Amino acid sequence: MRFCPHCGARMDVPQSLVVEYWQAELALFLCYCSACQWQGEIVNQVRVVVSELEEEGES
Ligand SMILES: [Zn+2]
Repeated sequence: MRFCPHCGARMDVPQSLVVEYWQAELALFLCYCSACQWQGEIVNQVRVVVSELEEEGES
């Protein structure tokens, strides 16, 4: 979360607030934008992608 989803302003300013917390496998961002006064919750479903890398032998 670097930018406000509402107005696109930067969220990494001291006046804005982003709180990240987890609920099961959901990442929730509680946001307040000082630029547009928007506040809300953003839910990100985090997919854990497990990819098996084949070991390439040098031959
Ligand atoms: Zn905003």
